[in-house]
Amino acid sequence: MLEIEDLHVTVADKPILKGLNLTVPAGEVHAIMGPNGAGKSTTSYTLAGREGYEVTSGAIRFKGEDIVDLPPEERAAKGMFLAFQSPIEIPGVTNMNFLKAAVSSQARLRGEKEPGPAEFLKMVRAAAKTLNVSEDMLKRPLNVGFSGGEKKRNEVLQMTLLKPYLAVLDETDSGLDIDALKLVAQGVNALRSPERSFLVITHYQRLLDYIEPDVVHILAGGRIVKSGDKTLARALEDHGYDAVIGKAA
Ligand code: ADP
Ligand code: MG
Repeated sequence: MLEIEDLHVTVADKPILKGLNLTVPAGEVHAIMGPNGAGKSTTSYTLAGREGYEVTSGAIRFKGEDIVDLPPEERAAKGMFLAFQSPIEIPGVTNMNFLKAAVSSQARLRGEKEPGPAEFLKMVRAAAKTLNVSEDMLKRPLNVGFSGGEKKRNEVLQMTLLKPYLAVLDETDSGLDIDALKLVAQGVNALRSPERSFLVITHYQRLLDYIEPDVVHILAGGRIVKSGDKTLARALEDHGYDAVIGKAA
């Protein structure tokens, strides 16, 4: 599904990713953990194709195709989804209209039929209900006045409606209380399937109690320094980054 090979990325001329290697096969959930400033968000923005994140060398292949030169919307059309660490507020656009625009544009880009208004409303309401996203949150401008937890649940709502092949969740757990965390995990677990992969980026082990990763990677200094099974996350929680990865942190 996703193959990142010897990836080097600079942000504002500063090298941030320095030889990142990562392979996520279809159907698997991989977690990336790492200290603050390790390059976790840089990795997710680079995958999404955000402006200012310059790939200086290396390759990113998504479903077998090198996507480094593709704009964000084409990556999204191919089925890549990024849930932001800090979702932005868009005052002029209601959440519902935003969701409709996202789903419709993706359907168009994929050459599929756009859902009609009634069908769309039904889809949104069903997904919103499972994520405890209120009718009021659907009617309000996107993310405006949403609490941290509401923003994160709304990101998972978008993911649920867009049904991506690869979902990258950047610290979707930060700022969530335990009930919201469980809802987010449920949302992810409900979408798990043999043709869908997840990259779950998190600073804490807690989320991984609810979303069982197949592989846990530790990112430090702009590269993956260690990979293992979910016990690696537990070891980090118990002993800290320094003890588990030594000087690489
Ligand atoms: P993490 O998500 O692992 O905490 P980031 O990927 O956000 O780490 O940041 C990695 C490094 O890149 C940090 O040293 C940070 O200061 C730097 N960085 C991130 N974004 C920018 C930016 N827009 N301009 C300059 N430096 C940045
Ligand atoms: Mg980050």
